[in-house]
Amino acid sequence: MGNELEKHWRDECGVFGIYLRDPTAPNEAARDTYFGLYALQHRGQESAGIAVASGDRIVLHKAMGLVSEVFSPEVLDGLTGNVAVGHVRYSTTGSSHPVNAQPLVFRYLKGMVALAHNGNLVNAGELYLRLANLGSVFQTTTDSEVIVNLLARYAQDSLEDALAKSMIDIKGAYALVIMTENKLIGMRDPLGIRPLCLGRRGDSFILASESCAFYTIGAEFVRDVEPGEIVVIDENGLRSIHPLGSEEVAHCIFEYVYLARPDSVIDGINVNRFRRAMGRQLAREMKVEADIVIAVPDSGTTAALGFAEESGIRFEEGLIKNRYIGRTFIQPTQKMRDLGVRLKLNPVEEAVKGKRVIMVDDSIVRGTTSKQIVRMLRDAGAVEVHMAVASPPTQYSCFYGIDTSAREELIAAKMDVGGIREFIGADSLYYLSEEGMFAAAGRIKGNFCAACFNGRYPIPIPQTGRIDKDNFERTGGGC
Ligand code: SF4
Repeated sequence: MGNELEKHWRDECGVFGIYLRDPTAPNEAARDTYFGLYALQHRGQESAGIAVASGDRIVLHKAMGLVSEVFSPEVLDGLTGNVAVGHVRYSTTGSSHPVNAQPLVFRYLKGMVALAHNGNLVNAGELYLRLANLGSVFQTTTDSEVIVNLLARYAQDSLEDALAKSMIDIKGAYALVIMTENKLIGMRDPLGIRPLCLGRRGDSFILASESCAFYTIGAEFVRDVEPGEIVVIDENGLRSIHPLGSEEVAHCIFEYVYLARPDSVIDGINVNRFRRAMGRQLAREMKVEADIVIAVPDSGTTAALGFAEESGIRFEEGLIKNRYIGRTFIQPTQKMRDLGVRLKLNPVEEAVKGKRVIMVDDSIVRGTTSKQIVRMLRDAGAVEVHMAVASPPTQYSCFYGIDTSAREELIAAKMDVGGIREFIGADSLYYLSEEGMFAAAGRIKGNFCAACFNGRYPIPIPQTGRIDKDNFERTGGGC
């Protein structure tokens, strides 16, 4: 199932940046970034960081933990300056270490730079070896540091030119927010796989992974940073560079299916509307008689509402989520995951007893959680439990910045729909068709990466993958 009870597909990072023209308080940029990161917390809960520039220096605070745990009012008071970048991170296995927290701050020939990155480079291993052979040294195991070292290699050029040259070298998915002592820069991968958007508040500009961060700080959405675009914001305003001139796009469809907040708009698509449309489409494809539609909260709620609207079957709150279970309960062992489901979800007996239930969720990863929920509903008196998944089967791993389960852990990679139905113990199981998913998006399917559903990767994955050679072992990967 698609919520955090099970090892789910997680976004590995959220990025935020702000350039204030006329700050009203010395720590205003840091404070705005703090609230922006709060809005992006769903994209990463392991570490958080803010770097602030004030014309001649950059100060940084970052640590492991949630935004609210990492920053106190005193810490924010010390982060003075009118430009800031921030980052929340969820790490891949093996890279959970304070040294990998971002932003990364470094000094090179042209001064100080801070960098916050969401995404994953598919040729990071190759670039790492190349740079290491040229004498580069690395402190972290992240792809982001590979980008930092590339920029340092192009130090004779302006930062914008260095970024344009780096864009030719790096292959993969990335949304970067970069800050010098007096500039804010956003850079998005040529296919626009990872999201990055631009906001405005008066004369000040903001960059964020998702537009929900703008509303939190009273800014308005201006537009998405275009695929392959570099935007530079400084005292002269905003200018845009398109070093590669690519016309193809492949936005990550999983952002809409699960990852992004429903109140965000990404690349012109309202996430909430998309999820509702997926639910409606699923109701058209799934012909099952039932008494009520319920959601696995929160990930399945919007699609379940759409399903109920289209089918005319009444929506009920059949499962209640305990919102006060901390993330410390979500341990990566099966035993703890089993416990986590019962701690976090409870069936509403009154709603489901004696009913034929359609249970809507956004996806099934391993299937173990869905199995437990089906059992819980039956124990609570449901006479039939039909599972409706508002996306196609997730059969392939992501190499573009989403921490997926290994392919062998994905139940849909090992079993057909009949086998999965049997495993989870449902009376029937329906997935949204791939065509139905694209129809819900209202765009042609060529506009999206949907590789985790169909295995068609828009950027070839080099066989070498990440570095794991001789003494150069990298375990971190992207962000
Ligand atoms: Fe998104 Fe899936 Fe493509 Fe990864 S493989 S970028 S999760 S659509």
